Amino acid sequence: MTIMIEKIQTYLKDEQIDGALLTSTENVTYTTGFRSNPHERWLAVWIPAEGESILICPGMEVEDTKAAGWNGKVIGYSDTQKPLELLKAEVNHVSNLAVEKNHLTVDRLELIQQVFGDCIITAAEHFMNDLRVIKTESEIKRLKKAAELADFAIETACSELEEGKTELEVLAKVEYELKKKGITEMSFSTMVLTGENASSPHGTPGDSTIRKGDLVLFDLGVVYQGYCSDITRTVAFGEISDTQRDIYEAVLRAEMTALKMVKPGVMSSELDLAARKVIEDAGYGDYFPHRLGHGLGLNVHEYPSITSESNIVLKAGMTFTIEPGIYVPGVAGVRIEDDVLVTEDGYETLTKFPKSLQTF
Ligand code: MN
Ligand code: MN
Repeated sequence: MTIMIEKIQTYLKDEQIDGALLTSTENVTYTTGFRSNPHERWLAVWIPAEGESILICPGMEVEDTKAAGWNGKVIGYSDTQKPLELLKAEVNHVSNLAVEKNHLTVDRLELIQQVFGDCIITAAEHFMNDLRVIKTESEIKRLKKAAELADFAIETACSELEEGKTELEVLAKVEYELKKKGITEMSFSTMVLTGENASSPHGTPGDSTIRKGDLVLFDLGVVYQGYCSDITRTVAFGEISDTQRDIYEAVLRAEMTALKMVKPGVMSSELDLAARKVIEDAGYGDYFPHRLGHGLGLNVHEYPSITSESNIVLKAGMTFTIEPGIYVPGVAGVRIEDDVLVTEDGYETLTKFPKSLQTF
C-alpha cells in the first residue's frame, strides 16, 4: 500500500465508488512504483475503496514488480489466461467502478462490462488529476534531472550545427550523446527543424540542411526515471534578417511576461492571455496558433492545459511548460519553451539553457 493509494481510497469513499481500475502506464507507476510498457497486454492496478489493492501484470513481470518496490498483491497472468477474470475472482461485487475514460479502449470497456456485469462506470480522471497535479519532493527531483538533461541535449545540438549538415544528422548526435548518459527514452520524437521547416509547429525533421541565415528550432525532452522534460530553443545560424530577429524578440518577451506572472493564486488563463497580448501587440497575433503550455510529469502532456480559457488556480508544486511561438510561413518559426515549477512565492524554471538569441 502506498500513500498515493491511500489518497485515492479517500476519494473513492467520498464519492461512493467501489473501486478504481487504473490502466495507463503512468497511473500504474504513480500508484505502485512499477513502470512497464505492456504493449497490447493488460497492465492495471485495482484499488478498492476499502481493502487490499492488486497489481495486474504479465506473469513474466511479477519479479520486476517486487524489484520496483511493490509489496502488495500481484496477479501475474500467462498469455492464455484472462486477467480480468482472475481479478474478478478476487473482488467483491462492484456496482460503481472508476476507470480512465481517456485511456480505456471501447474494446476493453466492453470486456469490463462483461466480466463485472451491470456496474456504473465513472471517470477516474478528476481525482487522478487532482492528486498528480501537485508534485512531491521526489517527483520534483526527477523532473529537475530530466530538465538538466534536456539542457545538455540543447547544448549538444548547438555544438553540432554546421553548414550542410541535415536535421536528422544533428538529431542523431543529440540522442547518441544522451544514450551515452544512460537515457533510453525521449519524451516524444525529437525535433530539429531548420529554416522554413520551423514554421510548422509540429514539423518533421528530415534531410533539409542547415544554411547560413537560418533560424534552427530544437524541441525535445528526456524521460528520467519515468518523468518527462520538454524544452524548445530556437537559435540563429549565421546572420539572420531583422524580421527574424523581430519575431524572436517578440516570442522571448511573451515567454518572459508569462513566466514572471507565475505564482500561487494566479489563474492559468491569465498567463496565456498575457503572452498572447505581447504577440498581438508585436503584430503577430495571427501566427500563434496554439495554447501557451501544458502540465508536465509522468506524461509529457498532462493536466493542466494552459489556455486562454483554462481557469485553474496555480498552486505550489505544480509543473507545466510555457511555450509561446510565432510561425510565419516562408519567413520563420520561433518557439521558446521552459519547464516551470510553481513555488511558495513564485516560480523556478527547471530548464536553464540561455534564452537571449544565441548565434552559431
Ligand atoms: Mn516541446
Ligand atoms: Mn511542450
